[in-house]
Amino acid sequence: MEKIILGRTGLTVTRTSFGALPIQRRSMDDAIPIFKKAYESGITLFDTARGYTDSEAKIGRALSPVRGNIVITTKCKPKNGGELLEMLETSLSNLRTDYVDVLQFHFAAFVPKPEDGSGIYEAMLKAREQGKIRFIGLTAHALPVAMEAAQSGLYDTVQYPLSLLSSDRDLQLIDVCKQHHVGLLAMKAIGGGLIRHIPAAFAFLRRFENVVPLWGIEKMEELEEFIALEANPPQWGAEIEAAVANERAELGGNFCRGCGYCLPCPAQIDIPTVARSGLGSHRLPAQIFASPEWQHKVRRADECVECKECASRCPYELKTYQLIKDQAKIYWQTLQDMRIPLAGEPA
Ligand code: SF4
Ligand code: SF4
Repeated sequence: MEKIILGRTGLTVTRTSFGALPIQRRSMDDAIPIFKKAYESGITLFDTARGYTDSEAKIGRALSPVRGNIVITTKCKPKNGGELLEMLETSLSNLRTDYVDVLQFHFAAFVPKPEDGSGIYEAMLKAREQGKIRFIGLTAHALPVAMEAAQSGLYDTVQYPLSLLSSDRDLQLIDVCKQHHVGLLAMKAIGGGLIRHIPAAFAFLRRFENVVPLWGIEKMEELEEFIALEANPPQWGAEIEAAVANERAELGGNFCRGCGYCLPCPAQIDIPTVARSGLGSHRLPAQIFASPEWQHKVRRADECVECKECASRCPYELKTYQLIKDQAKIYWQTLQDMRIPLAGEPA
Protein backbone atom coordinates (compact mmCIF):
# COMPACT_ATOMS: atom_id res chain seq x y z
CA MET A 1 0.00 0.00 0.00
CA GLU A 2 1.25 3.46 -0.84
CA LYS A 3 1.98 5.46 2.31
CA ILE A 4 2.57 9.12 3.04
CA ILE A 5 3.43 11.30 6.00
CA LEU A 6 0.31 13.05 7.27
CA GLY A 7 1.60 16.62 7.32
CA ARG A 8 3.22 17.88 10.48
CA THR A 9 1.83 14.99 12.54
CA GLY A 10 4.67 12.91 11.15
CA LEU A 11 2.31 9.92 11.18
CA THR A 12 2.84 7.47 8.34
CA VAL A 13 -0.52 6.48 6.90
CA THR A 14 -1.82 4.60 3.87
CA ARG A 15 -3.15 6.65 0.99
CA THR A 16 -6.12 4.31 0.92
CA SER A 17 -7.81 4.98 4.24
CA PHE A 18 -11.07 3.86 5.79
CA GLY A 19 -13.97 6.27 6.26
CA ALA A 20 -16.23 4.70 8.89
CA LEU A 21 -19.44 6.68 8.36
CA PRO A 22 -21.39 4.24 6.13
CA ILE A 23 -20.42 1.24 8.32
CA GLN A 24 -23.02 2.51 10.79
CA ARG A 25 -25.59 0.80 8.61
CA ARG A 26 -24.13 -2.64 9.26
CA SER A 27 -24.54 -4.79 12.36
CA MET A 28 -21.61 -5.29 14.70
CA ASP A 29 -21.21 -8.87 13.44
CA ASP A 30 -21.13 -7.71 9.81
CA ALA A 31 -18.77 -4.80 10.47
CA ILE A 32 -16.03 -6.61 12.37
CA PRO A 33 -14.84 -8.79 9.45
CA ILE A 34 -14.79 -5.71 7.20
CA PHE A 35 -12.49 -3.81 9.57
CA LYS A 36 -10.31 -6.89 10.06
CA LYS A 37 -10.00 -7.41 6.33
CA ALA A 38 -9.08 -3.73 5.89
CA TYR A 39 -6.34 -4.05 8.49
CA GLU A 40 -5.03 -7.34 7.11
CA SER A 41 -4.93 -5.77 3.65
CA GLY A 42 -2.64 -3.05 4.98
CA ILE A 43 -4.95 -0.08 5.62
CA THR A 44 -3.63 1.83 8.62
CA LEU A 45 -5.87 4.90 9.00
CA PHE A 46 -9.44 4.62 10.26
CA ASP A 47 -11.57 7.76 10.49
CA THR A 48 -14.71 7.86 12.61
CA ALA A 49 -16.68 10.31 14.75
CA ARG A 50 -18.48 10.56 18.08
CA GLY A 51 -21.55 11.44 16.00
CA TYR A 52 -21.43 8.25 13.89
CA THR A 53 -23.58 6.23 16.33
CA ASP A 54 -21.76 2.90 16.92
CA SER A 55 -18.95 3.36 14.37
CA GLU A 56 -16.32 3.96 17.09
CA ALA A 57 -17.49 0.91 19.03
CA LYS A 58 -17.19 -1.26 15.92
CA ILE A 59 -13.60 -0.11 15.37
CA GLY A 60 -12.86 -0.76 19.04
CA ARG A 61 -14.26 -4.29 18.88
CA ALA A 62 -12.50 -5.15 15.64
CA LEU A 63 -9.13 -3.45 15.97
CA SER A 64 -8.23 -2.92 19.65
CA PRO A 65 -5.87 -5.95 19.56
CA VAL A 66 -3.82 -4.15 16.89
CA ARG A 67 -4.29 -0.63 18.24
CA GLY A 68 -0.56 0.15 18.19
CA ASN A 69 -0.35 -0.57 14.46
CA ILE A 70 -3.10 1.76 13.31
CA VAL A 71 -3.95 5.46 13.27
CA ILE A 72 -7.39 6.42 14.56
CA THR A 73 -8.87 9.80 13.78
CA THR A 74 -12.18 10.66 15.39
CA LYS A 75 -14.26 13.80 15.78
CA CYS A 76 -16.63 15.55 18.13
CA LYS A 77 -18.73 18.69 18.00
CA PRO A 78 -18.90 20.07 21.55
CA LYS A 79 -20.43 23.36 22.65
CA ASN A 80 -17.63 24.01 25.12
CA GLY A 81 -14.40 22.60 26.50
CA GLY A 82 -16.04 20.52 29.25
CA GLU A 83 -18.27 18.81 26.72
CA LEU A 84 -15.28 18.07 24.50
CA LEU A 85 -13.50 16.26 27.32
CA GLU A 86 -16.63 14.26 28.15
CA MET A 87 -17.12 13.29 24.50
CA LEU A 88 -13.48 12.27 24.25
CA GLU A 89 -13.87 9.92 27.23
CA THR A 90 -16.83 8.27 25.47
CA SER A 91 -14.79 7.93 22.27
CA LEU A 92 -11.87 6.36 24.13
CA SER A 93 -14.18 3.90 25.85
CA ASN A 94 -15.91 2.99 22.57
CA LEU A 95 -12.61 2.63 20.74
CA ARG A 96 -11.12 0.56 23.60
CA THR A 97 -8.00 2.67 23.66
CA ASP A 98 -6.39 5.27 25.92
CA TYR A 99 -5.56 7.71 23.12
CA VAL A 100 -6.72 8.80 19.69
CA ASP A 101 -4.17 9.92 17.15
CA VAL A 102 -6.13 12.92 15.90
CA LEU A 103 -9.17 14.48 17.55
CA GLN A 104 -10.99 16.69 15.06
CA PHE A 105 -13.46 19.46 15.79
CA HIS A 106 -16.37 18.15 13.70
CA PHE A 107 -18.28 20.04 10.99
CA ALA A 108 -16.80 23.32 12.16
CA ALA A 109 -18.73 26.51 11.45
CA PHE A 110 -15.83 28.46 12.97
CA VAL A 111 -12.20 27.80 13.84
CA PRO A 112 -11.78 27.37 17.61
CA LYS A 113 -8.78 29.30 18.88
CA PRO A 114 -7.15 29.86 22.27
CA GLU A 115 -9.01 32.44 24.36
CA ASP A 116 -11.98 32.70 21.98
CA GLY A 117 -14.33 32.12 24.89
CA SER A 118 -15.49 28.66 23.78
CA GLY A 119 -12.83 26.78 25.74
CA ILE A 120 -12.73 24.18 22.96
CA TYR A 121 -9.14 24.70 21.85
CA GLU A 122 -7.93 24.81 25.47
CA ALA A 123 -9.68 21.46 26.06
CA MET A 124 -7.89 20.03 23.03
CA LEU A 125 -4.57 21.18 24.51
CA LYS A 126 -5.46 19.69 27.89
CA ALA A 127 -6.35 16.36 26.29
CA ARG A 128 -3.05 16.42 24.42
CA GLU A 129 -1.10 17.17 27.61
CA GLN A 130 -2.85 14.22 29.26
CA GLY A 131 -1.79 11.98 26.37
CA LYS A 132 -5.40 11.27 25.39
CA ILE A 133 -4.93 12.74 21.93
CA ARG A 134 -1.76 13.11 19.91
CA PHE A 135 -2.79 15.76 17.39
CA ILE A 136 -5.48 18.37 16.85
CA GLY A 137 -7.62 18.46 13.72
CA LEU A 138 -10.68 20.13 12.26
CA THR A 139 -13.27 19.06 9.72
CA ALA A 140 -15.22 21.63 7.71
CA HIS A 141 -17.66 21.80 4.82
CA ALA A 142 -17.09 25.52 4.22
CA LEU A 143 -13.90 26.41 2.36
CA PRO A 144 -13.06 29.61 4.30
CA VAL A 145 -13.20 27.67 7.58
CA ALA A 146 -10.92 24.93 6.21
CA MET A 147 -8.54 27.54 4.77
CA GLU A 148 -8.41 29.49 8.03
CA ALA A 149 -7.68 26.33 10.02
CA ALA A 150 -4.95 25.28 7.60
CA GLN A 151 -3.27 28.69 7.78
CA SER A 152 -3.75 29.24 11.52
CA GLY A 153 -0.83 27.18 12.73
CA LEU A 154 -3.23 25.70 15.34
CA TYR A 155 -4.28 22.54 13.50
CA ASP A 156 -2.25 19.50 12.54
CA THR A 157 -4.86 18.14 10.13
CA VAL A 158 -7.80 19.48 8.15
CA GLN A 159 -10.58 17.36 6.67
CA TYR A 160 -12.65 18.72 3.80
CA PRO A 161 -14.82 17.35 0.94
CA LEU A 162 -12.50 16.68 -2.00
CA SER A 163 -13.23 14.58 -5.03
CA LEU A 164 -13.37 14.75 -8.79
CA LEU A 165 -16.46 16.92 -8.28
CA SER A 166 -14.44 19.59 -6.46
CA SER A 167 -14.16 23.06 -7.94
CA ASP A 168 -10.79 24.67 -8.65
CA ARG A 169 -11.39 26.87 -5.60
CA ASP A 170 -11.76 23.81 -3.38
CA LEU A 171 -8.66 22.24 -4.82
CA GLN A 172 -6.60 25.29 -3.75
CA LEU A 173 -6.81 23.93 -0.21
CA ILE A 174 -4.43 21.16 -1.27
CA ASP A 175 -1.54 23.55 -1.88
CA VAL A 176 -2.34 25.61 1.22
CA CYS A 177 -2.14 22.49 3.39
CA LYS A 178 1.09 21.49 1.70
CA GLN A 179 2.67 24.90 2.30
CA HIS A 180 1.69 24.81 5.98
CA HIS A 181 2.57 21.12 6.48
CA VAL A 182 -1.00 20.36 7.51
CA GLY A 183 -2.25 16.82 6.97
CA LEU A 184 -5.16 16.80 4.51
CA LEU A 185 -7.90 14.19 4.79
CA ALA A 186 -10.42 14.07 1.94
CA MET A 187 -13.98 13.35 2.99
CA LYS A 188 -16.77 12.66 0.46
CA ALA A 189 -14.12 11.19 -1.84
CA ILE A 190 -16.88 9.49 -3.85
CA GLY A 191 -19.18 12.50 -3.59
CA GLY A 192 -21.18 11.04 -0.71
CA GLY A 193 -21.98 7.99 -2.85
CA LEU A 194 -22.87 9.89 -6.03
CA ILE A 195 -19.75 8.99 -8.04
CA ARG A 196 -20.14 5.63 -9.78
CA HIS A 197 -16.79 5.46 -11.60
CA ILE A 198 -14.64 4.50 -8.61
CA PRO A 199 -11.37 4.11 -10.60
CA ALA A 200 -11.79 7.71 -11.80
CA ALA A 201 -12.44 8.90 -8.22
CA PHE A 202 -9.36 7.01 -7.06
CA ALA A 203 -7.07 8.20 -9.86
CA PHE A 204 -8.20 11.81 -9.52
CA LEU A 205 -7.24 12.11 -5.84
CA ARG A 206 -4.10 9.98 -6.20
CA ARG A 207 -2.58 12.74 -8.33
CA PHE A 208 -2.31 14.99 -5.25
CA GLU A 209 0.59 13.67 -3.23
CA ASN A 210 -0.48 15.16 0.13
CA VAL A 211 -4.14 14.06 0.05
CA VAL A 212 -5.38 11.08 2.06
CA PRO A 213 -8.81 10.02 0.75
CA LEU A 214 -11.14 8.48 3.31
CA TRP A 215 -13.11 5.96 1.31
CA GLY A 216 -16.51 5.50 2.90
CA ILE A 217 -16.99 1.74 3.17
CA GLU A 218 -20.13 -0.16 4.11
CA LYS A 219 -19.69 -3.49 2.34
CA MET A 220 -16.93 -6.04 1.91
CA GLU A 221 -17.13 -5.73 -1.88
CA GLU A 222 -16.56 -1.97 -1.63
CA LEU A 223 -13.45 -2.58 0.48
CA GLU A 224 -12.24 -5.20 -1.98
CA GLU A 225 -12.65 -2.73 -4.83
CA PHE A 226 -10.36 -0.20 -3.12
CA ILE A 227 -7.82 -2.88 -2.24
CA ALA A 228 -7.76 -3.96 -5.89
CA LEU A 229 -7.32 -0.36 -7.03
CA GLU A 230 -4.48 0.08 -4.55
CA ALA A 231 -2.78 -3.05 -5.88
CA ASN A 232 -3.20 -1.93 -9.46
CA PRO A 233 -3.73 1.85 -9.46
CA PRO A 234 -5.51 3.24 -12.53
CA GLN A 235 -3.20 5.50 -14.48
CA TRP A 236 -4.14 9.08 -15.22
CA GLY A 237 -4.67 9.24 -18.97
CA ALA A 238 -7.22 9.85 -21.69
CA GLU A 239 -9.59 7.11 -20.55
CA ILE A 240 -9.72 8.23 -16.91
CA GLU A 241 -9.86 11.90 -17.90
CA ALA A 242 -12.89 11.16 -20.06
CA ALA A 243 -14.53 9.31 -17.15
CA VAL A 244 -13.86 12.27 -14.82
CA ALA A 245 -15.36 14.68 -17.36
CA ASN A 246 -18.39 12.44 -17.73
CA GLU A 247 -18.96 12.16 -13.96
CA ARG A 248 -18.64 15.93 -13.60
CA ALA A 249 -21.09 16.60 -16.40
CA GLU A 250 -23.64 14.15 -14.99
CA LEU A 251 -23.25 14.81 -11.26
CA GLY A 252 -21.70 18.24 -10.75
CA GLY A 253 -25.09 19.90 -10.46
CA ASN A 254 -26.32 17.42 -7.87
CA PHE A 255 -23.60 17.41 -5.26
CA CYS A 256 -24.36 19.53 -2.22
CA ARG A 257 -21.29 20.00 0.01
CA GLY A 258 -23.34 20.96 3.06
CA CYS A 259 -21.51 24.30 3.42
CA GLY A 260 -24.66 26.26 4.30
CA TYR A 261 -23.91 29.36 2.21
CA CYS A 262 -27.36 29.13 0.67
CA LEU A 263 -28.99 29.97 4.02
CA PRO A 264 -31.05 31.61 5.35
CA CYS A 265 -34.15 30.38 3.57
CA PRO A 266 -37.28 32.55 3.99
CA ALA A 267 -39.31 29.33 4.32
CA GLN A 268 -36.95 28.10 7.07
CA ILE A 269 -35.90 25.06 5.09
CA ASP A 270 -32.69 23.45 6.34
CA ILE A 271 -31.33 23.33 2.80
CA PRO A 272 -27.99 21.55 3.50
CA THR A 273 -29.86 18.68 5.17
CA VAL A 274 -32.68 18.42 2.62
CA ALA A 275 -30.30 18.79 -0.35
CA ARG A 276 -28.46 15.68 0.85
CA SER A 277 -31.42 13.78 2.31
CA GLY A 278 -31.75 11.29 -0.55
CA LEU A 279 -28.05 10.49 -0.41
CA GLY A 280 -28.23 10.31 3.39
CA SER A 281 -31.05 7.78 3.18
CA HIS A 282 -28.66 5.52 1.26
CA ARG A 283 -25.57 6.11 3.45
CA LEU A 284 -26.72 6.70 7.04
CA PRO A 285 -28.40 4.37 9.55
CA ALA A 286 -32.18 4.52 9.73
CA GLN A 287 -32.07 5.72 13.33
CA ILE A 288 -30.59 8.98 11.99
CA PHE A 289 -32.11 9.58 8.57
CA ALA A 290 -35.57 8.26 9.45
CA SER A 291 -35.74 10.13 12.76
CA PRO A 292 -38.73 12.45 13.29
CA GLU A 293 -36.27 15.38 13.22
CA TRP A 294 -35.05 14.49 9.71
CA GLN A 295 -38.56 13.76 8.49
CA HIS A 296 -39.78 17.16 9.67
CA LYS A 297 -36.85 18.86 7.95
CA VAL A 298 -37.44 17.07 4.67
CA ARG A 299 -41.19 17.65 4.82
CA ARG A 300 -40.49 21.37 5.15
CA ALA A 301 -39.14 21.32 1.57
CA ASP A 302 -42.81 21.40 0.51
CA GLU A 303 -42.89 25.00 1.78
CA CYS A 304 -40.36 26.19 -0.83
CA VAL A 305 -41.71 29.28 -2.61
CA GLU A 306 -39.06 29.09 -5.35
CA CYS A 307 -37.67 32.52 -4.58
CA LYS A 308 -34.30 31.08 -5.75
CA GLU A 309 -32.34 33.15 -3.22
CA CYS A 310 -30.56 29.94 -2.20
CA ALA A 311 -29.34 29.26 -5.74
CA SER A 312 -27.99 32.79 -6.06
CA ARG A 313 -25.86 32.21 -2.95
CA CYS A 314 -24.62 28.68 -3.68
CA PRO A 315 -20.93 28.92 -4.65
CA TYR A 316 -21.27 25.64 -6.59
CA GLU A 317 -24.06 27.05 -8.76
CA LEU A 318 -26.46 24.30 -7.79
CA LYS A 319 -30.12 24.68 -8.65
CA THR A 320 -30.80 24.32 -4.98
CA TYR A 321 -34.60 24.72 -5.20
CA GLN A 322 -34.71 21.79 -7.65
CA LEU A 323 -32.14 19.72 -5.76
CA ILE A 324 -34.16 19.77 -2.53
CA LYS A 325 -37.22 18.51 -4.42
CA ASP A 326 -35.25 15.73 -6.12
CA GLN A 327 -33.52 14.66 -2.93
CA ALA A 328 -36.75 14.77 -0.91
CA LYS A 329 -38.37 12.49 -3.50
CA ILE A 330 -35.56 9.93 -3.15
CA TYR A 331 -35.75 10.25 0.63
CA TRP A 332 -39.49 9.53 0.87
CA GLN A 333 -39.16 6.68 -1.61
CA THR A 334 -36.44 5.10 0.57
CA LEU A 335 -38.66 5.36 3.65
CA GLN A 336 -41.49 3.76 1.71
CA ASP A 337 -39.25 0.97 0.37
CA MET A 338 -37.98 0.26 3.88
CA ARG A 339 -41.53 0.41 5.30
CA ILE A 340 -40.47 3.05 7.81
CA PRO A 341 -43.46 4.70 9.54
CA LEU A 342 -43.92 8.39 8.90
CA ALA A 343 -43.50 10.75 11.84
CA GLY A 344 -46.40 13.01 12.83
CA GLU A 345 -46.16 16.78 12.76
CA PRO A 346 -44.13 18.27 15.64
CA ALA A 347 -46.22 19.49 18.58
S1 SF4 B 1 -35.99 28.77 -3.39
FE1 SF4 B 1 -37.01 27.59 -1.78
S2 SF4 B 1 -35.35 26.64 -0.64
FE2 SF4 B 1 -34.44 28.30 -1.83
S3 SF4 B 1 -34.41 30.05 -0.42
FE3 SF4 B 1 -36.30 30.19 -1.64
S4 SF4 B 1 -37.85 29.15 -0.38
FE4 SF4 B 1 -35.82 28.54 0.43
S1 SF4 C 1 -26.84 23.96 -1.78
FE1 SF4 C 1 -24.83 24.90 -2.25
S2 SF4 C 1 -24.59 26.50 -0.69
FE2 SF4 C 1 -26.22 25.17 0.02
S3 SF4 C 1 -25.22 23.72 1.38
FE3 SF4 C 1 -25.30 22.77 -0.66
S4 SF4 C 1 -23.37 23.30 -1.67
FE4 SF4 C 1 -23.58 24.67 0.11
